[in-house]
Amino acid sequence: MRKTEKVLGYDVDLLTFSGAIDKIMGKIHNQEGAQVVTINPEMIEMASRSYEFSKILKSAEIVIPDSSGIKLALKLKGVEQEQIPGIDLALDLLRSCCEMNYKVALIGATEDVLETTVKRVKGEFEGIKICYSRNGYFDIQKEDKIIEELKASEPNLVLVAMGVPRQEFFIKSCKEKISNAVFIGVGGSFDVWAGVVQRAPEFFKVMGCEWLYRTYKQPQRIKRIYKTLPLFLIKVIIDAIQTNGIFLKRKKND
Ligand code: UDP
Repeated sequence: MRKTEKVLGYDVDLLTFSGAIDKIMGKIHNQEGAQVVTINPEMIEMASRSYEFSKILKSAEIVIPDSSGIKLALKLKGVEQEQIPGIDLALDLLRSCCEMNYKVALIGATEDVLETTVKRVKGEFEGIKICYSRNGYFDIQKEDKIIEELKASEPNLVLVAMGVPRQEFFIKSCKEKISNAVFIGVGGSFDVWAGVVQRAPEFFKVMGCEWLYRTYKQPQRIKRIYKTLPLFLIKVIIDAIQTNGIFLKRKKND
């Protein structure tokens, strides 16, 4: 049974970090197959403009609150939920898969970044079974062939680092043909693991402001954020007020 709370109509799983690991590893163990989405405000705003993307968010088996914006939206509804960074979750999943001898596939990023990531993952988790890896730059026409190759490698866990929403759409196509693996979109995680992009210092993480540091380091993100964040905040505040019944109470007092 999932324990979830809605943020602007999208279910978010209420889990601790270790609870999320247990849940995902359970799915891997049972070969249940699942799409794990690490949700943030940008994705919710994107979904409000794309029916196809919103369907993916709604059909995901596990939705991880990977953002201070989602944490705040839940808090406004009276739900205390820790932020679970997808990159940390993915690293822990690699560790668990290594320990349990499960096969892992890594898809995404440029060829250089991918090669360094594979090397570093193998260095960090001795004996890890990486059954498949390929960069994330391929034509849509090649997708079927890639999915066939991936399927033949029989992965248990597939990390897809191609950015939002490309990775979620690719995972959706994979899921249709590979029904017993767990897929998770991990955005720019390979860039971080390869050492091409720095993660925010601890202070930013503790304050829930990792996004601010990333924006400072990658100013091209400003456009994405200013287009989505203010609107998201306004919507969640209105939603919180409505669901707490404040509007209703006011009407009664009129
Ligand atoms: N990427 C990719 N294929 C593409 C576009 C992007 O593999 O067609 C990779 C890119 O090299 C980078 C990651 O996807 O490693 C995107 O990282 P970003 O931090 O932008 O992810 P997001 O913020 O969308 O989660």
